[in-house]
Amino acid sequence: MSFWDDLQKTLSEATDFTVQKTTELGDLAKLKYNIHSSEKKLERIYAEMGKIWFDIRKNGVDRESEAATLVMQAEKLAGDIAGMKAEAAKLKKTNVCPVCSAEISKECTFCPVCGEKLCDDADDVDDADEADEDID
Ligand SMILES: [Zn+2]
Repeated sequence: MSFWDDLQKTLSEATDFTVQKTTELGDLAKLKYNIHSSEKKLERIYAEMGKIWFDIRKNGVDRESEAATLVMQAEKLAGDIAGMKAEAAKLKKTNVCPVCSAEISKECTFCPVCGEKLCDDADDVDDADEADEDID
Protein backbone atom coordinates (compact mmCIF):
# COMPACT_ATOMS: atom_id res chain seq x y z
CA MET A 1 0.00 0.00 0.00
CA SER A 2 2.65 2.45 0.98
CA PHE A 3 4.41 1.69 -2.26
CA TRP A 4 1.44 3.16 -4.05
CA ASP A 5 1.36 6.10 -1.73
CA ASP A 6 4.97 6.74 -2.52
CA LEU A 7 4.39 6.31 -6.18
CA GLN A 8 1.43 8.63 -6.10
CA LYS A 9 3.51 11.15 -4.28
CA THR A 10 6.31 10.85 -6.75
CA LEU A 11 3.94 11.16 -9.64
CA SER A 12 2.23 14.17 -8.25
CA GLU A 13 5.59 15.64 -7.41
CA ALA A 14 6.31 15.54 -11.11
CA THR A 15 4.84 18.50 -12.88
CA ASP A 16 3.11 16.34 -15.43
CA PHE A 17 0.02 15.55 -13.52
CA THR A 18 -3.18 14.37 -14.94
CA VAL A 19 -5.91 16.87 -14.38
CA GLN A 20 -8.48 14.85 -16.19
CA LYS A 21 -8.27 11.96 -13.80
CA THR A 22 -8.86 14.19 -10.84
CA THR A 23 -11.73 16.10 -12.38
CA GLU A 24 -13.41 12.88 -13.41
CA LEU A 25 -13.84 12.12 -9.76
CA GLY A 26 -16.10 15.12 -9.62
CA ASP A 27 -15.23 15.51 -6.00
CA LEU A 28 -14.85 19.10 -4.95
CA ALA A 29 -12.72 18.29 -1.94
CA LYS A 30 -10.33 16.26 -4.00
CA LEU A 31 -10.24 18.97 -6.60
CA LYS A 32 -9.48 21.59 -4.00
CA TYR A 33 -6.71 19.46 -2.65
CA ASN A 34 -5.25 19.09 -6.11
CA ILE A 35 -5.50 22.81 -6.72
CA HIS A 36 -3.75 23.43 -3.46
CA SER A 37 -0.96 20.98 -4.13
CA SER A 38 -0.54 22.29 -7.66
CA GLU A 39 -0.24 25.79 -6.32
CA LYS A 40 2.39 24.57 -3.88
CA LYS A 41 4.19 22.91 -6.75
CA LEU A 42 4.03 26.10 -8.74
CA GLU A 43 5.50 27.99 -5.80
CA ARG A 44 8.36 25.52 -5.69
CA ILE A 45 8.95 25.97 -9.40
CA TYR A 46 9.04 29.72 -8.92
CA ALA A 47 11.49 29.30 -6.06
CA GLU A 48 13.65 27.08 -8.23
CA MET A 49 13.49 29.70 -10.98
CA GLY A 50 14.71 32.21 -8.48
CA LYS A 51 17.71 30.08 -7.61
CA ILE A 52 18.49 29.49 -11.24
CA TRP A 53 18.19 33.17 -11.98
CA PHE A 54 20.55 33.87 -9.13
CA ASP A 55 23.02 31.32 -10.47
CA ILE A 56 22.87 32.83 -13.90
CA ARG A 57 23.19 36.41 -12.76
CA LYS A 58 25.49 36.07 -9.83
CA ASN A 59 27.60 33.05 -10.67
CA GLY A 60 27.44 33.24 -14.43
CA VAL A 61 26.32 29.63 -14.65
CA ASP A 62 24.59 28.69 -17.86
CA ARG A 63 21.25 27.34 -16.76
CA GLU A 64 19.13 28.90 -19.45
CA SER A 65 17.71 25.62 -20.68
CA GLU A 66 16.75 24.62 -17.15
CA ALA A 67 15.08 27.97 -16.72
CA ALA A 68 13.22 27.50 -20.00
CA THR A 69 12.03 24.07 -18.88
CA LEU A 70 10.80 25.50 -15.62
CA VAL A 71 8.96 28.25 -17.40
CA MET A 72 7.20 25.65 -19.50
CA GLN A 73 6.35 23.61 -16.44
CA ALA A 74 5.06 26.66 -14.64
CA GLU A 75 2.91 27.61 -17.60
CA LYS A 76 1.45 24.15 -17.82
CA LEU A 77 0.81 24.05 -14.10
CA ALA A 78 -0.81 27.45 -14.14
CA GLY A 79 -3.04 26.24 -16.95
CA ASP A 80 -3.89 23.09 -15.02
CA ILE A 81 -4.70 25.12 -11.95
CA ALA A 82 -6.95 27.44 -13.93
CA GLY A 83 -8.70 24.43 -15.41
CA MET A 84 -9.18 22.82 -12.03
CA LYS A 85 -10.44 26.06 -10.57
CA ALA A 86 -12.97 26.33 -13.35
CA GLU A 87 -14.05 22.80 -12.64
CA ALA A 88 -14.27 23.43 -8.91
CA ALA A 89 -16.23 26.60 -9.51
CA LYS A 90 -18.69 24.68 -11.64
CA LEU A 91 -19.13 22.25 -8.82
CA LYS A 92 -19.63 25.10 -6.42
CA LYS A 93 -22.07 26.79 -8.77
CA THR A 94 -20.00 29.84 -9.11
CA ASN A 95 -18.82 31.45 -12.30
CA VAL A 96 -15.29 31.70 -13.42
CA CYS A 97 -14.20 34.76 -15.28
CA PRO A 98 -13.23 33.69 -18.79
CA VAL A 99 -10.53 36.33 -18.82
CA CYS A 100 -8.75 36.20 -15.49
CA SER A 101 -10.09 32.92 -14.06
CA ALA A 102 -11.29 34.60 -10.91
CA GLU A 103 -14.09 32.84 -9.11
CA ILE A 104 -17.16 34.99 -9.08
CA SER A 105 -20.55 34.69 -7.50
CA LYS A 106 -23.28 33.90 -9.98
CA GLU A 107 -24.90 37.18 -9.05
CA CYS A 108 -22.11 39.22 -10.54
CA THR A 109 -22.63 40.70 -13.94
CA PHE A 110 -19.10 41.92 -14.21
CA CYS A 111 -15.91 40.35 -12.99
CA PRO A 112 -14.87 42.24 -9.85
CA VAL A 113 -11.25 41.47 -10.62
CA CYS A 114 -10.81 42.46 -14.24
CA GLY A 115 -14.18 44.00 -15.11
CA GLU A 116 -15.03 41.51 -17.83
CA LYS A 117 -18.73 41.39 -18.61
CA LEU A 118 -20.19 38.04 -17.71
CA CYS A 119 -23.13 36.36 -19.31
CA ASP A 120 -25.82 36.84 -16.83
CA ASP A 121 -28.37 34.13 -16.93
CA ALA A 122 -31.00 35.27 -14.52
CA ASP A 123 -32.32 31.85 -13.79
CA ASP A 124 -30.42 28.68 -13.42
CA VAL A 125 -31.70 27.43 -16.70
CA ASP A 126 -29.41 24.82 -18.04
CA ASP A 127 -26.84 27.37 -18.99
CA ALA A 128 -25.22 25.96 -22.02
CA ASP A 129 -22.16 27.94 -22.90
CA GLU A 130 -23.74 30.57 -24.99
CA ALA A 131 -20.93 32.20 -26.77
CA ASP A 132 -23.03 34.68 -28.65
CA GLU A 133 -21.47 38.04 -28.71
CA ASP A 134 -23.54 41.11 -28.32
CA ILE A 135 -23.67 42.65 -31.71
CA ASP A 136 -24.80 46.22 -31.58
ZN1 LIG B 1 -11.91 38.67 -14.58
